[in-house]
Amino acid sequence: MSEVSGSAVPPAVFWGAGLLGVIVAAAMLGAAEVKKAVVAKPEMVTREQWGSQARAIGEDQKQVPKWVTIHHAGSKWKAGADPAKFVKAVQAWGQREKNWPDVPYHFMIAPDGRIFEGRPIEYAPQTNTKYDVPGHIGVELMGDFEVERVSEAQLKSLVKLAAWLCQEYKLNPDEIAGHKDRAKAQTVCPGKDLERYLADGSIKNWVKQTMEGKAAEVRVKEAIRDGPTEMIGAVAATQKAGK
Ligand SMILES: [Zn+2]
Repeated sequence: MSEVSGSAVPPAVFWGAGLLGVIVAAAMLGAAEVKKAVVAKPEMVTREQWGSQARAIGEDQKQVPKWVTIHHAGSKWKAGADPAKFVKAVQAWGQREKNWPDVPYHFMIAPDGRIFEGRPIEYAPQTNTKYDVPGHIGVELMGDFEVERVSEAQLKSLVKLAAWLCQEYKLNPDEIAGHKDRAKAQTVCPGKDLERYLADGSIKNWVKQTMEGKAAEVRVKEAIRDGPTEMIGAVAATQKAGK
């Protein structure tokens, strides 16, 4: 206020210029936002839709998202199982056995590619291993990729989801990594057949292409030597609708 009253510029003109500046800045910001939002939010099965019974997470668990970290479930997918039931079972197990208020991951991807919403991104994930968890967005793919192969639908959803997350939270796709890269020598997660797409740069390249508005050619590759050869099983037939 003292600057205004002490200025040679009449207050009305000063405010007028200030308002114009705000409008111009807002218009520029708007243009930048429109240009930047290349990746649409992928369709998801919401917490309400799968029937989450999450408990409140402590405010001391709040985080600022910095990295995308990829996991597998570590249990072989039972062909014909229902992914929604699987997510509910993971939540119930964590609450019962670990005293975790919610599912440990932020997103869980079914063999048919459906993305299930897990715990809110604003809260740190939960882990059985030792690494500094705050800042990580945990994305789990259902299955055990030490013994079975990740599906193309899962890879496609993973790429779309990771590209959207990198865009929304201004994360570096080069820093997408697997659990075993974060918690060295503590786990095989996310399993050989999924880790190989991280190790050979496929996932980060597909994510970058998607963020640039290009159509990424996400494809399942040949089975790796010493890796699993069996493709992950299908989900319950009645659950495929609405994918
Ligand atoms: Zn993991």
